[in-house]
Amino acid sequence: MATLVALGGLGEFGANSLLVEDEGGARVLLDAGAAFSDLAAFGVGYEVPDFAAIGGGPPAAVVVTHAHDDHIKGIAFLREAHPAIELAASRTTLAWARRATGNGAALATRELQLGIPVPAGPFTVHAVPVSHSIPGTVALRLEGADGALVLATDLRLAPSALEESTSQEALAAWGDAGTDLLLLDSTNALVRAEPPSEATVAEAIEEQVRKVRGAVIAVSFASQLGRFRQLARAAAATGRLVVPVGRGLVESLEVQARLGGLGLPLGLVRPARELPSLPRDRVIVVATGSQGEPGSAFSRLAVDLLPGLRLRPGDTVLHAARVIPGNERRLAHLFDHCVRRGARVVTAAEAPIHASGHPHQAELARLLDLVRPRWVLPVHGRRRHLEAVAELARARGIGTLVVENGEEVAWGRSGVAVTGELRQVGRILLDDVGEEVLDPAILRHRRSLAREGMVVAVLPCSRAAPGGLGDVQIHVSGMPAAAGLVDQLAVGLTAEIGRAGILARRDPEWLRSTMARWLRSEVRRRTRRRPVVVALVVEL
Ligand SMILES: [Zn+2]
Repeated sequence: MATLVALGGLGEFGANSLLVEDEGGARVLLDAGAAFSDLAAFGVGYEVPDFAAIGGGPPAAVVVTHAHDDHIKGIAFLREAHPAIELAASRTTLAWARRATGNGAALATRELQLGIPVPAGPFTVHAVPVSHSIPGTVALRLEGADGALVLATDLRLAPSALEESTSQEALAAWGDAGTDLLLLDSTNALVRAEPPSEATVAEAIEEQVRKVRGAVIAVSFASQLGRFRQLARAAAATGRLVVPVGRGLVESLEVQARLGGLGLPLGLVRPARELPSLPRDRVIVVATGSQGEPGSAFSRLAVDLLPGLRLRPGDTVLHAARVIPGNERRLAHLFDHCVRRGARVVTAAEAPIHASGHPHQAELARLLDLVRPRWVLPVHGRRRHLEAVAELARARGIGTLVVENGEEVAWGRSGVAVTGELRQVGRILLDDVGEEVLDPAILRHRRSLAREGMVVAVLPCSRAAPGGLGDVQIHVSGMPAAAGLVDQLAVGLTAEIGRAGILARRDPEWLRSTMARWLRSEVRRRTRRRPVVVALVVEL
């Protein structure tokens, strides 16, 4: 039997990545995404699966459904871990992937197109273009010696804002061909209500814009170019210009320009540097940072840190995006900042200015009826969402299996079952500034600093001073210090240095570590805390 194991995305939102292996151990990955980190308080922006820790032979290929960060942002790290890996994706997604891997000249790629199967390791991959909130999204079918699986995630049956549609005939044909296992999106499995159509969203956006006297600031996902086009069209219809702000959005527009653009009138989209010279009642600023990401255009705008535009009474902020669970508090703070400055805030909860790119219950039911799998394994969600998809499938008499990251599953014509094997790979942490890999030791240090504070001891030494050593100075930061603590530590440490005697003067490094050791245990004894201790011997 073939196996599969989720490196991310099952039991969480983000970091979607599945490792699929045939009976002989040949393997491919489906998607290689990143997740927002729970460690944001310690300066961690994103997490990606540690692809170097997969074990066994390197995967032959990674097949990518679409270019959203939670499916593709790990690709640069995957390539670092497995340089020979081949990438299969749609033309649009390949353009994004080249960008994500520094226009990776050596990236071996295969383009996925409807009706043209391509080999990926031991499997043959078929793709069907689908409607989603970024162009170039596909549903995937993997055929191997042991059976066939379909990955249907991040897709709607209703047309997208860029008027892309999902071919229900093509999905039904996969049903006719026989599908052993369907991996099905669970993001909106708890949503019973029909979401607004994209036509309704476009109308609602224009209606909102017409009501605004001052500037309109629309906050959306950087890659949601369909939403951007709706906003630009609303700008054109109301005599405004549209100004994209934020690196991610500008990059998205550049990638799209190379793929044929968005068909917008010339001169409608203006660069951010023109913002100060444009009348505020004549612009729609489209800003990145829909999840309140620190440093993003929206998070800066909300606190007057965006050059060229300060919020004022009469302005309106349209939050035209979904809130990914976990980001609610951060966004609530930013909305409050906007309101304090006199701006009105409208979110998708108050007006139909956003529609999700994920299937709700009725579309999930329809997808099950089209693909008619023998088994369903829910993906792309927390446990509660996964269970909700399983319930929909069970109601149709389809076999279901709910697992989370790391739980290995055997699948094939003879059925689907957990093997009992746990294959977790851990995470690479990316700094929220610069997105560089963060050493776990640095994270430990940041945690200690944040929780316990810091004690610094400085010992000046000079050839001129009597005995060569000056007076110890102690600084306490980020921890409560009882009266007298600093003095007691200074006296104690001076005595300890005295006990070290002649050795201390000959070997500053030895002296430094002796000071740190004494301070660590003394601070712990006196305060029951474990702050970061820094000891410095400074030559004057
Ligand atoms: Zn997506």
